[in-house]
Amino acid sequence: MEVTIRELKPRSTVVEMAGTTASQVNAIRRTLLADVPKLAIEDVEFHLGPIRDEATGKDYDSSTSMFDEAIALRLGLLPIPTDLGEFRRKSECSCGGTGCPHCQVMYSIDRKGPCTVYARDLIPLGDPGLATLEPEVPIVRLGARQALLAYATAVVGTAREHAKWQVAHGVGMFPRPHVKIQKKPECTEACLKRAAATCPVNILEFAGGKLSVTDEVKCIDCGACEKACEHGSIQVAPDEADFFLRFETDGSLSAREALRYSLKDLKRRFEDLREAIQGIA
Ligand SMILES: [Zn+2]
Repeated sequence: MEVTIRELKPRSTVVEMAGTTASQVNAIRRTLLADVPKLAIEDVEFHLGPIRDEATGKDYDSSTSMFDEAIALRLGLLPIPTDLGEFRRKSECSCGGTGCPHCQVMYSIDRKGPCTVYARDLIPLGDPGLATLEPEVPIVRLGARQALLAYATAVVGTAREHAKWQVAHGVGMFPRPHVKIQKKPECTEACLKRAAATCPVNILEFAGGKLSVTDEVKCIDCGACEKACEHGSIQVAPDEADFFLRFETDGSLSAREALRYSLKDLKRRFEDLREAIQGIA
């Protein structure tokens, strides 16, 4: 297999894999979607009853305009930076699942109205580097005399359990398109010019009486050029052994980390299978 990184940004990537099959790339796609772990808020403990501001002696009501469950869900969806070398699932932690700095992160929220509570108000108890990556997300609006006091716990999970643990988004694969141009005798210059003009990504160029492809990789396989020339001079065909894999992450892990983890996870699963089969033999 030949791999080319077509684009690599902190939160997104496009990788081309040649000499492979659709099912192999699809296995990576599915692993990226469902099996890459990350931290997300799992438990939220809300303070019930009146909340007193010690400085002013004023009493606030702990009930807000939203149900506690809805606030907890919003907190759960906030991306938290995750170092998979440092954090692990509770079930795999040396603490035995009771909760320790290697398998859970605690946060607090303490706001008094009138105000809007934002994601940035979710303060990590400990390492400030574990604050959410999207601080400007509004959580709930508090009226006068309303307050929100809560403690939240983030744990490691995967999207198999809940979408809030989904690291990779918009994970798509598509075959590399090939644009073949072979001018038929009955085809005219006007016809080829028209075909070049219909391309929505402008990769067909008509110059010196010839039609050529400028950047085949950008072809979206829409078939507009094929239809524009009724003589069949242009043919677009997908490659059956060359694919592009494209995805972005929510920032909890970088695109590179998510891809590396998914490949490692696939390898581990096949190793397990190999060992199991050896046991049978
Ligand atoms: Zn632990």
